[in-house]
Amino acid sequence: MRQSHLFTKTRKEVPSDETSKNATLLLRAGYIHKEFSGVYAYLPLGLRVINKIIEIIREEMNNIEGQEISLTALQEKSTWDATDRWDDSKVDVWFKTALKNGTELGLAITHEEPITKMMSQYVRSFRDLPKYVYQFQTKFRNETRAKSGIMRTREFIMKDLYSFCKTKEEQDHYYKKAQDAYIKVFKRLGLGDITYLTFASGGIFSKYSHEFQTICENGEDEIYVHHKKKIAINKEVLTDEVLKDLDVKREDLSIEKASEVGNIFSLGTRFSEALNLSYTDENGEKQLAWMGSYGLGPARIMGVIVESFADDKGLVWPEAVAPFSLHLITIAKDKENDSYKKAEEIYKKLTDAGVEVLFDDREESAGAKFADSDLLGIPMRVVVSDKSIALGGVEIKERKSDKSEIISVEELLKTYKPNCE
Ligand code: ATP
Ligand code: MG
Repeated sequence: MRQSHLFTKTRKEVPSDETSKNATLLLRAGYIHKEFSGVYAYLPLGLRVINKIIEIIREEMNNIEGQEISLTALQEKSTWDATDRWDDSKVDVWFKTALKNGTELGLAITHEEPITKMMSQYVRSFRDLPKYVYQFQTKFRNETRAKSGIMRTREFIMKDLYSFCKTKEEQDHYYKKAQDAYIKVFKRLGLGDITYLTFASGGIFSKYSHEFQTICENGEDEIYVHHKKKIAINKEVLTDEVLKDLDVKREDLSIEKASEVGNIFSLGTRFSEALNLSYTDENGEKQLAWMGSYGLGPARIMGVIVESFADDKGLVWPEAVAPFSLHLITIAKDKENDSYKKAEEIYKKLTDAGVEVLFDDREESAGAKFADSDLLGIPMRVVVSDKSIALGGVEIKERKSDKSEIISVEELLKTYKPNCE
């Protein structure tokens, strides 16, 4: 992509009500647009990042037999009455509206109820289970507190997977599989070292549920971390009994600020009972399905990545989610200049080879281009100038380490796409 074509621009000022580090940087770099407090739009660069996060999650959900669907945001009151989750006194984050005939509707806060109801139309016998279904879908929540930028918004995409099993054992087995898949996701996202499997309260069907908490200075949660065991305990469940269960000592735990990037629950038969999701077993007897739900927040993850890696010059993206792999910059303003032509030639070769390149072909000063490049945070900068050509090629500089060197154009092409000439 040519930077001169990009409609977004970097800027110094952000809306005065913006206090979070993640949204401030993303707004300044033009990745997102603030519609109003707690509601953000994704612009070309930001959408590329969120889509990369989504794609990594999708691959790992497909690896554990997830089937992708897309449920509706519009929800009928009756579906939620069945589990007593409609009334504002029970769930206080609903956005509600109505049809012209008066029928009450709400914008989905989550999807346990509608998916259980839907599955009841397909599940008949033991042969129909287990099944695992997931989506990336918009949730609406009238959150009171919206001060964490894109990490807590009133409209956000969630990856929610639901498992439907025959027995508790089958459900427990899948729960463990999903837990392992989540660990893989965070590793691939570059957050593996700072994300902890966290024990939280489980409810009536299981002793624990699990959260995935990423250490983050501006996170809203506090967790008790056991660094050696790579686990953490949620504040609410820190009791002597839990310490004993997990075989950890209180003095080996350190309290850390963190952000809940994902969570997994065993739902037992709560929803299947309320919404009539049953099957006929091998003996012809009617049984309730056992369920689990597994959430991940791509935008919260993006926010945590920003908070964790950004420095005083701007964003720093891990390779796996960066909007582009390379930021190619030409210093020459004159299109007839040899180094400008060289940059054009390199841009063409790289894009032809399928490398994701943002090409700063704008008529800006070198200083302005470098400052923008630091703010945008693409992992590797490639500068083409008369000087770099005289020295034998291009200057590459890693955003994270600031390390730079001159390499030949051939080497650049070989590094980024080994199979192009
Ligand atoms: P929290 O306690 O932070 O409000 P939650 O318990 O409501 O989270 P879930 O309903 O289980 O979270 O949602 C699953 C995932 O969706 C969370 O782990 C988080 O990554 C993401 N998420 C939840 N609420 C928001 C929000 N308001 N904005 C952005 N992402 C969110
Ligand atoms: Mg919440």
